[in-house]
Amino acid sequence: MTFKVAVIGGGLAGITAAIALAESGADVTLLEARPRLGGATCSFNRDGLTVDTGQHIFLGCCTAYRGLLAKLGMTEHATMQDRFDVTVLAPGGRGGVAPPGDGRAPGANGQPRKARLRRTALPGPLHMLPALGRYPFLSFAERMSVSRPALGMRFVNPADPAVDTQRFGDWLARRGQSERTRRALWDLFSVSALNIDGDDASLALAAVVVKTGLLGKNNAADIGVPALPLGELHGDAGANLLAKLGARVALSTKVAAIEPNQGGGFRIELAQGAQGDPMTADAVVLAVPHEKAAPLIPAGALPEQTVAGWAGLGASPIVNVHVIYDRPVMDLPFVAAIDSPVQWVFDRTRISGLDRPGHQYLAISLSAADQYADTPAAQLREQFLPALAELFPAARDANVAEFFVTRERRATFRQAPGSGALRPKAATAQPGLVLAGAWTDTGWPDTMEGAVRSGLAAAVELKASLSTIGVSK
Ligand SMILES: Cc1cc2nc3c(=O)[nH]c(=O)nc-3n(C[C@H](O)[C@H](O)[C@H](O)COP(=O)(O)OP(=O)(O)OC[C@H]3O[C@@H](n4cnc5c(N)ncnc54)[C@H](O)[C@@H]3O)c2cc1C
Repeated sequence: MTFKVAVIGGGLAGITAAIALAESGADVTLLEARPRLGGATCSFNRDGLTVDTGQHIFLGCCTAYRGLLAKLGMTEHATMQDRFDVTVLAPGGRGGVAPPGDGRAPGANGQPRKARLRRTALPGPLHMLPALGRYPFLSFAERMSVSRPALGMRFVNPADPAVDTQRFGDWLARRGQSERTRRALWDLFSVSALNIDGDDASLALAAVVVKTGLLGKNNAADIGVPALPLGELHGDAGANLLAKLGARVALSTKVAAIEPNQGGGFRIELAQGAQGDPMTADAVVLAVPHEKAAPLIPAGALPEQTVAGWAGLGASPIVNVHVIYDRPVMDLPFVAAIDSPVQWVFDRTRISGLDRPGHQYLAISLSAADQYADTPAAQLREQFLPALAELFPAARDANVAEFFVTRERRATFRQAPGSGALRPKAATAQPGLVLAGAWTDTGWPDTMEGAVRSGLAAAVELKASLSTIGVSK
């Protein structure tokens, strides 16, 4: 007998689970509320420009996500650096020249100060030490202090509940990391990886990032950047593969309720205005964000306090500021910035299909963007155009052809201390119902890797749960 599965939610978690289950012979229907697949990784068209609502990157260690890209035939469209290599800029000029002898990068005459963090071919953690040892935005003493927490991370177990209760910033400070070292070095990576102010991040999740990126294989932190809009890379490619596997994809189909049938299986009720009819299924993968999952969980599937506790995961915004200049101002695919409101900047000219000769399209990605989530675009323009001009001298004479802002108010859950205890496993007490989503207990931060891992875990759990109740393919 072929078992019939409804996968609810067409983000990376749902797409992954649907593919895995369809590959193992299940009769899969993927139900997605929006008119497209891809969830948080999506693109839209703006007067002929293809815009990703949020710039995404991934790392060499994202094996599950890279596995999904391979399945989707997209590996060549998500290129990896040959080595971890990040240029870090800081505004110069306004007193930006460091006190003599402290080794900070000079930035006289309004020129930005610049550093390059490029790994060597040595095994981790030695691969980063030469670059960190030369990092010009820290004093000699600060640079020397970095190895203590870096190596100390070896003894931090992210799965230890006590570790989940600690703030990353406190842990770093106790290991001699000054305010300056935390802001100019650790924040560079932890804020974007965890989407929360660096000091406030859960030590457990920060440990996953540091252990993997700094202490793991030497290519673990090499950066991958999509070379196609996310809508094509994930959404369109996912829909194509699912069609090939014989799975149905129902778009604009919001689920309103999941009702377990007395004799087993489920009835899936659709929201008013959704396309299609209610459906029945032997099993359900619920792959929607936590605030959407909570009201859909059938009574008894999980303890009430567990489901109520998900609200504590909260949400953290990411804002992208998009600027099209009438000339090239940045000569690298991306840079990071410190001592500036700018965090990371990406060149989106080619990927967006920008059809204005000689122009350049930059996107500033702002993580932990609580202070910008509701700031009017005009105000962001006043703040960020001068900030870009401080980092890119060519921008000072350039004209801005277009400026707009995209805001994802619930980009990730708030990856603060205590969040680990709130993240559920895939299994529920309701036979045939499993959870997926980057917010579930994957051991990973709320990322594309976490989403894909959760989808794979849900498929494995579901197959195990169905075999115990006698449903098999
Ligand atoms: C701006 C931004 C930048 C980011 N940058 C990065 C990055 O650089 N690297 C990285 O790894 N990660 C990044 N992330 C995080 C990453 O995108 C997410 O962790 C991941 O995509 C989440 O996938 P998901 O499938 O768990 O959830 P989602 O993508 O949220 O998918 C859930 C889906 O469920 C659907 N849904 C909800 N309710 C219902 C319902 N009732 N019925 C049917 N469908 C429903 C939603 O419409 C949605 O499509 C970023 C996120 C954002 C927003």
